[in-house]
Amino acid sequence: MKCPRIEVNLTKIKQNACYLKKMCQKNGIELMAVTKGFCAKHQIAKTLEEAGITRFGDSRVENIRKLREANIRGEMTLIRLPMLSEAVEVVKWADVSFNTEIEVIEALSREAVSQNKLHKIVLVIEVGDLREGIMPEKLVETIKYIRKLKGIEIYGVALNVGCFGGVLPSITNTQTLVEAAIKVEEMLGKDLKVISGGSTCSLKLLEEGKMPERINQLRIGEAILLGTDVTGQRKIPGLNRNTMRLVAEVVELKEKPSVPWGEIGRDAFGKLPKFEDKGIRKRAILAIGRQDVVIESLIPEIEGVKVLGGSSDHMILDVTDAQDDVYVGKQMGFKMSYGAMLALMTSEYVEKVYIDEDEGKTFKNIE
Ligand SMILES: *Cc1c(COP(=O)(O)O)cnc(C)c1O
Repeated sequence: MKCPRIEVNLTKIKQNACYLKKMCQKNGIELMAVTKGFCAKHQIAKTLEEAGITRFGDSRVENIRKLREANIRGEMTLIRLPMLSEAVEVVKWADVSFNTEIEVIEALSREAVSQNKLHKIVLVIEVGDLREGIMPEKLVETIKYIRKLKGIEIYGVALNVGCFGGVLPSITNTQTLVEAAIKVEEMLGKDLKVISGGSTCSLKLLEEGKMPERINQLRIGEAILLGTDVTGQRKIPGLNRNTMRLVAEVVELKEKPSVPWGEIGRDAFGKLPKFEDKGIRKRAILAIGRQDVVIESLIPEIEGVKVLGGSSDHMILDVTDAQDDVYVGKQMGFKMSYGAMLALMTSEYVEKVYIDEDEGKTFKNIE
């Protein structure tokens, strides 16, 4: 089979989606599946649809368009703030978008009127992670202004943590969102449809029974796809983690010293490399590199193999202590974290292979 490739186990992903959907449902929460981690590939989106997911979120309008064109049914939300320059596409393809800027909401309003649509907006509230969000004390004036706009429905509020500042979800910051929601509801004289309490890292509050009651939506990508929570540094109980694997091929295997010789400048990415002298080691080079993957977030399946690093198109392993045979032409497997998955899914050089255990079949990426 072609290398490098990412093998995606649809059956295991479906099980994760079903499990999380049930867990959310029990707590009065709707699960929005976030599709950006897999570039909204229709094979995976279909699987989520089969798991009963009816809400999808992505950070890119192109991906939402892809979902629509693949006939995925459900409510589509743009979860990255729209660019002013893409208002036309946002209104055309997304039902809902996350917003914080009045100027952009005005543009969406004009576009909605001209496309004869009602576009729903969710206002993101800043609770401390310092990525996007309206400062809570500025919320009232924002609402006063945008409530008059035509073609726009104020659909809900959302918070975002664990992304830029590494701030963990807590009862306190989630409660800040609920308070903001109540304020907006008072001003509008009606209930908000969506109070969106965060992403994969917020599942911990749910598991511990600490999720404030009014939260009625979570936006989940990583947990469904990998069964992990990178922000909280944990494996999520009840979920499959063997959902995706990378396979890459050995193109050189040689014994070499462990420290480079000659005058040392910078590596291909401008960094000053550091080496520990371990004597002569057996090294394998794989035909995959930083253009395709985040090398540091790969975990070799063979015990005893160590990832030394890589360049644009090569990954270098120390296989001296490998517990299995390594040879030129060997196709080696790796587990991955979120960053690696994102890059592998995006790289056009990496073959996507889907495995459906229920149907007992394996099929390749057909775009
Ligand atoms: C990516 C993203 C998510 C999903 O995050 P996961 O950690 O993959 O669950 C949710 N909300 C926003 C705004 C995002 O950008």
